[in-house]
This record gives sequence, C-alpha cells and structure tokens, in this order.
Amino acid sequence: MSKAKIIDGKAFAQTVRARVAQQVRDLKDSHNITPGLAVVLVGEDPASQVYVRNKVKQTEECGMKSLEYRREPDISEQELLTLVESLNVNPEVHGILVQLPIPKHISEEKVIAAIAPEKDVDGFHVINTGLLATGSKNAMVPCTPLGCLMMLKDFFGDDLSGKRAVVVGRSNIVGKPMGALLLNESCTVTTVHSRTVDLEDECRRADILVAAVGRAQMIKGDWVKPGACVIDVGINRIEKEDGKTRLVGDVDFDSVLEVAGAVTPVPGGVGPMTIACLLANTVTAACRQNKIAEPEIK
Ligand code: NAP
Repeated sequence: MSKAKIIDGKAFAQTVRARVAQQVRDLKDSHNITPGLAVVLVGEDPASQVYVRNKVKQTEECGMKSLEYRREPDISEQELLTLVESLNVNPEVHGILVQLPIPKHISEEKVIAAIAPEKDVDGFHVINTGLLATGSKNAMVPCTPLGCLMMLKDFFGDDLSGKRAVVVGRSNIVGKPMGALLLNESCTVTTVHSRTVDLEDECRRADILVAAVGRAQMIKGDWVKPGACVIDVGINRIEKEDGKTRLVGDVDFDSVLEVAGAVTPVPGGVGPMTIACLLANTVTAACRQNKIAEPEIK
C-alpha cells in the first residue's frame, strides 16, 4: 500500500501568512487601520517564551502592530486583570492573547473572562465558546482547531459532511472546540478521553482522527482506518538514545504513515498553522471592531 500524504503545515502556514499580510496591507490602504495584537506573558516558562517570541515575530512580519507585555511571575491577579482591562479599551489593540499557563495563584478563568470577547483572538472566552457551540459565524474560533480544520479541508475538500470524526482529548483549548467545529461541518463526531472504553476501536472507525492528548506516540498505525486523515496536535519531548531530546506528536508517525491517507508531522504540522490562525483571527477582530467586511478564513 502506498504511504500517506504528509501534510506540510509549514508550507500551508506560509500561504496563510502571505494572505494575512495582503489583508493587512488592504486594511491600511483602504481604511488606515493597522491591526494590533497584544501578547501578555507572565513568568519565565521556557516553552511559553518560545511561543511568544514566534508570535511577536510573525505578527510584525505580517505588517501588524505587536505589543508585548512581560510580567513577573509574582504579579497579583488584580494587577493582571487591570492590565487586560487597559488593553480592552486600547484602540491600537484589536486582539489580546494571554499566554497560558499562568501562575497557579491567578485564576485562568477570571483572566479569560476579563478579555473583551471581540478581542479574544484565542477564542477561549465563554461568549466565543458559546457562539461556536451554537454554530454562529460570529465566534472567534480557537487557533489550533481552526488550523486543523483548514488542513482537513485541504485534504478532503470543503465538504466534510457525513464523515466520522474522532477527537482524542477533551480540553477546552483543543479537544472540545475541535469537536464543535467538526459538528458544525456536519461530521459525526465522537470525543474520546482517558475514561473511554475501547479507545482503539473508536479510533479505527474514524475518517478524521484528531489527536490532542499529550502522550508521546500513543496512536499506533493499527488504530487507524486505512485512508483516514490523521491530525496530530500533540507536542511531546522525548529522550533519544544519545541523551538528547526531540519533539514527537501523539501519533506514532512511522506506523500511521503506512495506513493513513494523510498525516501531519510533528514538528511542522499543526504548530505553524496555530500561529498563522492567530494572525488571521487578529485581522478578523480588527475588521469586526471597525465594522468592515471580514475576509474569509480558509
Ligand atoms: P490537556 O489539557 O492535557 O488534555 C489532554 C486530553 O487528553 C484530556 O482530555 C485527557 O483526558 C486526554 N487523555 C490523556 N491521556 C489519555 C489517554 N491515555 N487516553 C485517552 N485520552 C487521554 O492537553 P491539551 O492542552 O488539549 O493539549 C494536548 C496536546 O496538544 C499536548 O501535547 C499539547 O502540548 C499539544 N498542543 C499543541 C498545540 C499546537 O499548536 N500544536 C496547541 C495546543 C496544545 P481526560 O480529560 O479524561 O483527562
């Protein structure tokens, strides 16, 4: 059997970013608006620092304004909420992203709730999760699931209706919104998690299999339906024989490659698409706040 197509998230993200950059130029030329993204980083988590650096760099490369707010890990909850409220009313800021996780003494729920829903480019505010769950086109869709959906449509075409989709993981940032998005696309969606009985059998029924578990190489080739499209959201660091480390996904890439119709690699799959979708969401937010027709995200 021929091997699966490897979906090149890096190249796809490059195309999305080029489109966003053109939209930013159009907004400047036609409306004198420069979309602005504010990124708040609390503490010194090394992975978060890398994510924020990449987000800031790519925001600027697309011609948008990037505002960065770094705060010490002992910042009080009230101080962080006050910062978010100041960004809510800052006209230069169209999107606000508070990099998660934040220190334990601060309520993540309160901070997300404090972000103005129209500036919530991560799509985590309950207003946006509610809009997504009700199938509204006005939801700000979380970036990682949005990127996954774009890659699925690139493989299958725009119509995903009737496909069996299995989402492994039920987190608020990936699994649940992914399930909602696929349901809105008229897929038959099953969400599985750590308490699911016969997880492997559930996976084997999937035309679309999205893995967002955080368990290195858990999904094996014999869990995958021949021809399925497998999207690997996981980012896990494992030790190699030489003592160095490398990044792997939640999917056992080599065995899945033999069975699936398409699979995303790690790195170079979902990760780059997530940031590209953040930029696209910021343009959407800037358009909505200025009552300008928003470009289609595709
Ligand atoms: P999370 O909040 O830890 O959620 C993991 C989910 O997987 C939970 O629902 C959990 O079930 C389920 N799970 C854990 N072990 C399982 C098992 N053995 N069998 C079945 N289900 C199991 O993680 P997350 O934030 O969704 O992230 C998932 C992965 O994606 C991580 O590796 C993360 O680093 C990565 N990620 C990547 C991107 C990107 O841009 N590429 C973005 C976000 C996240 P329970 O609910 O029952 O505990």
